[in-house]
Amino acid sequence: IKVKNAFFVKSASKMEETTPEGMSEVAFIGRSNVGKSSIINALTNKKGLAKSSSTPGKTRLINFFQIILDKDGESYHAQLVDLPGFGYAKVSHSLKAEWQKNLTDYIKKRVSIRVFVHLVDSRHPFLEIDQAVHTYLSEIVRPDQTILRIFTKLDKLKQSEISLIKKNYPDAILVSSSSKKGVDKALDAIFLTLFG
Ligand code: GDP
Repeated sequence: IKVKNAFFVKSASKMEETTPEGMSEVAFIGRSNVGKSSIINALTNKKGLAKSSSTPGKTRLINFFQIILDKDGESYHAQLVDLPGFGYAKVSHSLKAEWQKNLTDYIKKRVSIRVFVHLVDSRHPFLEIDQAVHTYLSEIVRPDQTILRIFTKLDKLKQSEISLIKKNYPDAILVSSSSKKGVDKALDAIFLTLFG
């Protein structure tokens, strides 16, 4: 699978501003600083396409990107959706209060979402807030939707830490956006889920 093209479509601050339904969507969800923009840039092979959550003004918006993939000479279109990162150490309380309030509309009502990519910092694989997010997604996921848990910053891990993640999350996909390790595997997994 090759990326033929990827480009920014638009930003939305609420449901009414989102792009029309239709194209299959991959929604990226994760804590602020988890490496969400980095992995979108790595997957699309375009530095600077997605802006870091530390970029002013980018935090609270839903950003839409289009990606065009090539497999065996055939083109496949999908939309990558960069959802606002949710808060740091606070647990499910903050999830409910903030992130859930801002995002449930999109997550629950958006018909086009086919894949939820839940990004988890591989250095902190067992945070309560990530467990809460996973539980939440599992409860609302439709039969035509899939949750992929992708662990970021793989380059920061020792072999023993990698083993621990694989033991606890047998389906774990581990990626380093810096070294590009695992990026192709993640793209394959997303493609397979979207276009089987
Ligand atoms: P976002 O807030 O989730 O969009 O996160 P960013 O993509 O902006 O990344 C947050 C920080 O983590 C930045 O300082 C990145 O350089 C760093 N980072 C992101 N991905 C990786 C990775 O794969 N490896 C390492 N070592 N650092 C990363």
